[in-house]
Amino acid sequence: MSNNPNYDALKAAMKSLHDQTVFPVAGKDFRHIGSTFMCRTEIDSVSSDFHRGIDIGEMDGQAGDDDIIAAYDGVFWGYREYSGAGFTVMLSHQFPTPFTYHGKTVKYFYTWYCHLDKDSSLPIVSDWKQGKHGEAISAGQLIGKMGKSGETNVVHLHFEIRIGTNNSLEYQLANPKVTQWGFDPHIHPMLLYQPHAPAASPSLTQVGSCVPGNPVVLEYAIHREQPLLNRVEIKIIDRSTEMAVKSHVVDLTLREGMDPTKTKKLDNLDRDKTHFECIPFGYHPTVSEYKTKIIIPAEYIDSYFDSNYQLKIEVSDIWDYKVGEILSLSV
Ligand SMILES: [Zn+2]
Repeated sequence: MSNNPNYDALKAAMKSLHDQTVFPVAGKDFRHIGSTFMCRTEIDSVSSDFHRGIDIGEMDGQAGDDDIIAAYDGVFWGYREYSGAGFTVMLSHQFPTPFTYHGKTVKYFYTWYCHLDKDSSLPIVSDWKQGKHGEAISAGQLIGKMGKSGETNVVHLHFEIRIGTNNSLEYQLANPKVTQWGFDPHIHPMLLYQPHAPAASPSLTQVGSCVPGNPVVLEYAIHREQPLLNRVEIKIIDRSTEMAVKSHVVDLTLREGMDPTKTKKLDNLDRDKTHFECIPFGYHPTVSEYKTKIIIPAEYIDSYFDSNYQLKIEVSDIWDYKVGEILSLSV
């Protein structure tokens, strides 16, 4: 249990699909994930981008080679060419049991398949009925071909799941006439799949030491087939009372610790609290671990460098598997 009713309801709903879900690229699996649902650091190392999907591909993949298949039984919602996401196919799916999320009843979810190869994908979908009563699509059915359309130089599939609505929170707020769900609908796509038996447990290790004036940096490492990090909670504990005197949470799915009203704000976490440095490792098969740096800035902890305080860090993945560390803040 996560102690959050929204997240527990979401997890239960996603688990109810697991028996019938399919990885969206035929012949590929978790080993071919090169980038995950995560705040990624940009090359300038100051800004980040909240990557609200997973990327699947391989080194030197060729456009049109890989079959993109429906991740779950559903209905053809449509296709569209976006400047960023490129040629995109969208499917709509129904949850077996509706559930309540942030006060709203969620009956449907949507899967997005982006950057498809237009030349080979358009003939597959062009004659299909679209929308609510669109073509019925079975899990595993061919819906397009992998490509690199839109803003990317690499052949890969960008795969997203949105629950309740296709509209981002920013779009909802900017368009008061559309249904106001009040939350940003993207969730971690790996919630759609039964977790592997852990090949290796995640590890959390401190990088450098706790020194006043410097950030505290920890590295979370996990087998590359399980890029599931979801939540980081930090607490400054008063050792005499064992109570937290200060705490901060970053939860990627629930969007805690970030402002989801604008994609630009979502992209840039509060950098005076806790943020991530996560370099997507791409499709190199020899890289066996997915690593994310968790950075707690100096200004957040500096006034607590005293033997009376400890810094407690707890990292959870999407299935609430937790790993933690307690660091002493004595000078
Ligand atoms: Zn992507």
